[in-house]
Amino acid sequence: MTSCMPTVYGPSVPHSTLQRQFVFVFTVVPVDYSSHCERRNMGKGVYLSKALAVTCVVLAVAAVATIIALSVVYAQEKAKNAEVHLSTIAPSSTTTTTTTDPGPQEPWQSYRLPDSLSPVTYNITLWPRLEPNTDGLYIFSGNSTVVFKCVKETDLILIHSNKLNFTMFDGFHAKLKGLNGNAPSLKESRLEVPTQYLVIKLNSPLQAGSTYELFTEFVGELADDLGGFYRSEYFEDKVKKIVATTQMQPTDARKAFPCFDEPAMKATFYMTLIHPHGTVALSNGMNHDPVNITLDGQSVIQTSFEPTEIMSTYLLAFVVCDFAYIGTKPGAEVLIRIWARRKAIQEGQGDYALEKTGPILSFFENYYNSPYPLTKSDQIALPDFSAGAMENWGLITYRETALLYNEGVSSNGDKEWVATVISHELAHMWFGNLVTMRWWNDLWLNEGFATYVSYLGAHHAEPTWNMKDLIVLNEIIGVMGVDALASSHPLSSREQDILKPEDINGLFDSITYSKGAAVLRMLSEFITEKVFSQGLHTYLEEFKYKNTVYQDLWKHLQMAVDKAGINLPESVESIMNRWILQMGFPVVTIDTTTGQITQKHFLLDPESEVHTPSEFNYEWIVPITWMKPGRAEEQYWLLKKEDSNNNMTIGGANDWLLANINMRGFFRVNYDSQNWEHLLAKLSSKHADIPVINRAQIIDDAFNLARAKIVDTTLALRTTKFLNKEVEYMPWQTARSNLNYFFLMFDRSELYGPMQAYIKKQVTPLFQYFENLTLNWTKVPEKHTDQYNEVNAISMACSTGVAGCQELTSGWFKQWMANPADNIIISNLRSTVYCSAIAAGGVEEWDFAWEMYRNATIASEAEKLMYALSCAKEPWLLNRYLQYCLDPEKIRKQDATFTIVYIASNPIGQSLAWDFIRSNWGHIFNDYGGGSFSFGRLINGVTKRFSTEFEYNQLLQFKEDNVGQLGSAAWSLEQALERTKANMKWVSENKQKTYEWFINESKTSLSSEV
Ligand SMILES: [Zn+2]
Repeated sequence: MTSCMPTVYGPSVPHSTLQRQFVFVFTVVPVDYSSHCERRNMGKGVYLSKALAVTCVVLAVAAVATIIALSVVYAQEKAKNAEVHLSTIAPSSTTTTTTTDPGPQEPWQSYRLPDSLSPVTYNITLWPRLEPNTDGLYIFSGNSTVVFKCVKETDLILIHSNKLNFTMFDGFHAKLKGLNGNAPSLKESRLEVPTQYLVIKLNSPLQAGSTYELFTEFVGELADDLGGFYRSEYFEDKVKKIVATTQMQPTDARKAFPCFDEPAMKATFYMTLIHPHGTVALSNGMNHDPVNITLDGQSVIQTSFEPTEIMSTYLLAFVVCDFAYIGTKPGAEVLIRIWARRKAIQEGQGDYALEKTGPILSFFENYYNSPYPLTKSDQIALPDFSAGAMENWGLITYRETALLYNEGVSSNGDKEWVATVISHELAHMWFGNLVTMRWWNDLWLNEGFATYVSYLGAHHAEPTWNMKDLIVLNEIIGVMGVDALASSHPLSSREQDILKPEDINGLFDSITYSKGAAVLRMLSEFITEKVFSQGLHTYLEEFKYKNTVYQDLWKHLQMAVDKAGINLPESVESIMNRWILQMGFPVVTIDTTTGQITQKHFLLDPESEVHTPSEFNYEWIVPITWMKPGRAEEQYWLLKKEDSNNNMTIGGANDWLLANINMRGFFRVNYDSQNWEHLLAKLSSKHADIPVINRAQIIDDAFNLARAKIVDTTLALRTTKFLNKEVEYMPWQTARSNLNYFFLMFDRSELYGPMQAYIKKQVTPLFQYFENLTLNWTKVPEKHTDQYNEVNAISMACSTGVAGCQELTSGWFKQWMANPADNIIISNLRSTVYCSAIAAGGVEEWDFAWEMYRNATIASEAEKLMYALSCAKEPWLLNRYLQYCLDPEKIRKQDATFTIVYIASNPIGQSLAWDFIRSNWGHIFNDYGGGSFSFGRLINGVTKRFSTEFEYNQLLQFKEDNVGQLGSAAWSLEQALERTKANMKWVSENKQKTYEWFINESKTSLSSEV
């Protein structure tokens, strides 16, 4: 599954509703360097139609929360989880929660199925009703026959079932038949709700080796709950349309029909769907010709499908809709079809996906050296969908923004997202679907792998985009922030610790996706991509249609390593265990005066204590690539806590050493001060001698080391000095993300002026560079990353008052105001331009944007405007906008938190939003309680700048005043208190020297300009 969570794309990525990206749009409001974040639904468990979870990602928010936010990259589908990561303030200590469950007394009290029965085939017929019944409920009815083999003698049948109402046969929920001999008679049947079973007790045992058939007939609700067989709604030409669709992963197939709902319980599925005339039915297999039948006196269509391959229940999918598609021509080796709302297909929004799916499939066939296992690949865009996409075998489901691309309206970030999500899901067709993890505790391998190779597939589809580099920014740098907390967790969990559906759901987090991707990339780099894919090939061959544990993959990679004669200091398993069985990662310190190399568990908060023991004592086997001027890149293995390597010393003033080339390894690097100085000198004199990823790495490592008090804050700031010569996106983006914290802390203080002057000096050449590159802003830069960095340039230039910038954005906006039907603003730039123009404008601009927001028919466009409205500088406009947030006629409830947090991100709006929340808390709490309004995010978003004793006391007072009506905000409030303390401490330790540094730098900027 791809979560709806985004990658950390550039600021250029406008955000859109229901979308995934973290958009770091640094607003053009003068002071605000805060990221602005994007709403996305966190998925299952959150009811989309009722409550779009709103995630405001505050990048670099708090002393420690900072990078965490930044880092919740691609991962989690879970709101609960997301909040944890988004808002964590590195707790100073961790508590390990241990479940003191006494353990199940009876088999049906266990969340895991016994190993006595094994399914062979299912024959399922489902009939979703696309109109409500007399009770106003949408339902589906169905029946299922499961043929299963008895592996161990038993007089008990346990089969998963959730929220289904069964037809009773002679007082029982099912009928049992023996396929070779008689079946025992039923003694008792009932539903065990907590563990989601249909329990059937028999009068005599089933015989080992015999095969039986269990028949059930049932009715379920086709609810709008995004899980199992569910309902999605949309309007087309003012007519309400209903789609019946599915999301089974991880444990909701049991909500559509009774099944042995564990990934290792693979079987063949024969699906039949009954559906109304005028609709089409889709499933994993290719459909046979539909036939007209009469059922319950209704004329309907019956579509049956070719049997599936042997597969897991969580990969099933079926859809009934009246969508249209575009597809490959008849005769193509694999039939590829892109399905979506008719209008969307007519407008060509599926064209890009169709164009890229074929090449990506071919790429993976080559990469795995294994043919695509199916004859068709359907991909469908659904109006309501919890995750980003789901890799159902043969019928991949997506949220619309992850599959559809709208030329001229969507941005390049939108396009990148479509390419990477398609690539991620197609990668699963082999890794995950053909060969499947035995149990959910190995989810990290499934998702980390798909995340890693999605960049390879996307690179193949869009070779000019530098996707193989962007993985560093999108996945790796981000998750390092999460994994540097004492409260992080290892990638791999024990099977016995992951039992309940909520445990399983909890695994869909950024560690699973992004750290999983990072360590697999590291592995692929040190054994080479070729050997990595050779290991994958034999792994897929040995285990196709079966299940595995992660050690099976290590075994095959080891075989490939041995075959290729690659020399590793230890086995693949021994090296990798240190990265997957213990949380965190090391900071490697290289003393270039002595050649001494040491490693230490890197913790963002140096005072935090790690309470989770590790059998490896928080030491890693670290592959360190390094380079020096005039010397070929080398690799060195750090096998223990401390070692030395004489080659890694440096000599003269022009000598320097750089380690972790292209951030291939998942660790941070520190040097002795002399080498830091030499690296800084190199960046100033000829930065291109240092690879672009490492220019970003040096900045990111330095800022994080400073946060952890390993290096001085001014050293970190000095890593941004070369940016006045830099035009590449990755270093700029990394610097912006890291500087954001300084702005949050100081943008209401005397530091603001000097900080602005410094940024202005740094960004002016970049602005001019893009002015030339785009022929005075008339054309879109060719390079993908340039498109991202153009947005950085404009938004930073406008916010710091670089000459010509404000006139530019306001001018475009005025043209749009003059002719609202014709928006000439380039799609990549819209978010930034709207914000800048509204910040510089007054009520006229604001009212126009509000009008456009009210009339917007494209969700992503509405989202951009909703954000931009918060960029206003006049307090009364912001106050009025805040008032709108409590009027659902003006701002949908699902957007209210988000909007308030946007306003709070604006330094002028900060105190207004805080006052607003305090004075309206009772109202907010009562009217917006429940899932639709996240108090947690609200409190986090509004208090992220807090860094004074005064603000701390206000928070305490607020807590006291609202005892008993804090709801889910209670936890966030505690975090806000702790974070404010941490900020106070950071500010007191760093303010003076930061002030002096910026003063000094802004002075030199003045003199150099003169
Ligand atoms: Zn996935």
